[in-house]
Amino acid sequence: MRVTDPKTVATYYQALIDKDPRFVGIFFVGVKTTSICCIATCRARKPKRENVEFYTSFKEALDAGYRPCKICKPTENANEAPGQVQQAITMVRDNPKEKVSDWQLKQHQISPESVRRWFKKHYGMTFQAFQRMYRINNALEELKSGKTATATAYEAGYDSLSGFGYTYKKIIGKSPKNSTAMQNNVILINRFTTPLGPMFVCATDQGVCLLEFVDRRMLETEFKDLQRLKKANIIAGENDYMKQAQQEINEYFAGKRQQFKVTLDTPGTVFQQSVWQCLQTIPYGQTASYQQQAEKLNNPKAIRAVASANGHNRIAIIIPCHRVIGKDGKLVGYAGGLERKRWLLEHEQKYATT
Ligand SMILES: [Zn+2]
Repeated sequence: MRVTDPKTVATYYQALIDKDPRFVGIFFVGVKTTSICCIATCRARKPKRENVEFYTSFKEALDAGYRPCKICKPTENANEAPGQVQQAITMVRDNPKEKVSDWQLKQHQISPESVRRWFKKHYGMTFQAFQRMYRINNALEELKSGKTATATAYEAGYDSLSGFGYTYKKIIGKSPKNSTAMQNNVILINRFTTPLGPMFVCATDQGVCLLEFVDRRMLETEFKDLQRLKKANIIAGENDYMKQAQQEINEYFAGKRQQFKVTLDTPGTVFQQSVWQCLQTIPYGQTASYQQQAEKLNNPKAIRAVASANGHNRIAIIIPCHRVIGKDGKLVGYAGGLERKRWLLEHEQKYATT
């Protein structure tokens, strides 16, 4: 969205002049005179106020015709959580059983206000809610390993079992007492950054079930579908599948990985499953058309159905739906955006030959 509210524009312009790191990723500024797009901390000479436009996402600045600045590299740097936020996340990860309070943040020279703002924008939840989910995920693991709800509650930092039970039920949808014996269906979600922007990764205890750019259209529908198909709630947390996926994706972006090994969990119809399988047979660095995919499935007339199943792929990059292009070689729709699709194909072409 282009920011038009004069007060916000004034705040952003001041942040641009001050090179304020708290605004990195919050706005993208287009410089009309050069058609270049920057982030708040850019070292380049600052443009006059009448020559700038502010956008809330990089993609919108791109769509408006701006090119990424070579000095501040918005694609690489903007989506990285600012140092303070990263530090706050590390505090949560290192002590998943303890609550990180505003007071503790301040002790580490972290502004609770910027942490709050970043979480709201990038996770759609407060930092406190994120922590609660993280602690519940931890408690869940312990319940699964046979610990009692009472022991888990106290160790997770809850003063009483009832407080723990309430939070647990609110997030997991079941009370902790009933959870030990029965299945705890949970989909974990985490976020990491890539050169093309931040991605969400989700996994069950059977494998990775979602990998998408956070600004992908229809993302909420995917979350809803997943929860319905897995009969599970999505909560913040991390497991080994997610760590492996992130590692492999990092290697992919570095040009060091062409095939993925991480286990996937892809609930869907038999037809969708076959289409997703078939996508994974398109080699790195190559492309195929919907027509070719339909023929490979011995179903040459099912072009539209193949396209639709492609669109329902929830595991970007690893299930390479970006390798499907139009019959005439044109790039066709990509939920993560055509710019990204073009980038991915060029990236693969560059490394496929080496
Ligand atoms: Zn710049």
